[in-house]
Amino acid sequence: MKLIEYVEKYCLTPAISGHEDLMIKSLSQDLQKFADEVSVDNLGNVIALIKGKSESAPKVMIFAHTDQIGMFVKSITEEGFLKIVRLGGVPERILAGATIQIKTKSSQIISGVIGTISHHLTPDDKKYVVPKIEEMYVDIGAKSKTDALALGVEVGSPAFYEPKFTKLANNRIAATSVDDRAGCAVLVKLAERLSTSKPAANIYLVGSVQEEFNLRGAMVAAQQIKPNAAISLDLAVSTDTPDMKGVNELALDKGPIIGLYTFHGRGTLNGLIPHPKMVKIVEDSATKLKMNLQRHASVGMLTDASYVQFVDNGIPCVDLAWPTRYTHSGIETCSLNDLENLEELAFNVLKDFPLNFTGSRI
Ligand SMILES: [Zn+2]
Repeated sequence: MKLIEYVEKYCLTPAISGHEDLMIKSLSQDLQKFADEVSVDNLGNVIALIKGKSESAPKVMIFAHTDQIGMFVKSITEEGFLKIVRLGGVPERILAGATIQIKTKSSQIISGVIGTISHHLTPDDKKYVVPKIEEMYVDIGAKSKTDALALGVEVGSPAFYEPKFTKLANNRIAATSVDDRAGCAVLVKLAERLSTSKPAANIYLVGSVQEEFNLRGAMVAAQQIKPNAAISLDLAVSTDTPDMKGVNELALDKGPIIGLYTFHGRGTLNGLIPHPKMVKIVEDSATKLKMNLQRHASVGMLTDASYVQFVDNGIPCVDLAWPTRYTHSGIETCSLNDLENLEELAFNVLKDFPLNFTGSRI
């Protein structure tokens, strides 16, 4: 299967944090075709191993998260409307009028729409106002609370954007959950290549859980693997659109991205300043490939690598990314060219990973 086919398949597989079951199944089946060993831990992390030259060779963990942002049903009104809470960074701005899906008690998927004041009767003072999530409601067609319950919806039912995948011009795509299903697709392509072009190091390919919830699922995988180094694959925000111009320098089709600084101060108070040796390995690899490597430093986002770095006696980490527009909306947009280049870069980093690598700072 081609990279784009994996991206499409995974983007159309709904799996919000804590409910990653469909992605765990799909990803582990795909990795099984190429890896020497595949296991799934109690949290749901999918861990695949491509064996290196020897057991004593360095262990490198490369990971992408399998979960996505979403919502949970928090109550059902007597009239049969669902009230919801957000899971992760769902922007309220894009919710009114959106089509969503809800997973029922028996794991069936049913559709719902997020209601919005009918335009014809919108008072002037509400025309440009974004309603708060507490004011929003989901219409699943139910006529009463009893009706909604009979459909299998209950408090705690997970909900998510209706999965979508659209091809745009110039090898670009728009889809739900490009964050981080495109990363998962790259993981599988890496496994495929490494299965025939054997690396010297032991490569652990991990589909991590709960990144959009608390960023800490990948820690549990790292605790088991105890890697000598770890690389995260996740998106970075491209600002090459009229409304974002100049916020950073990232743009589509300019190649993969290395994260030099991320920080999120609201709640998490974490981020990643990558290990200098990992930065050098990535930069040298890009130079060797004559590939443009975009550099990224930003406040306001972070990945689960921020937590992986604190496992064991400190795991040298680096964030690799590809540029994406409209993040956390249902139409995240990126270029396949960047994903292909990211895969090429990551493959070379893993294939040539130095056997004498240590994380020593002196
Ligand atoms: Zn992500």
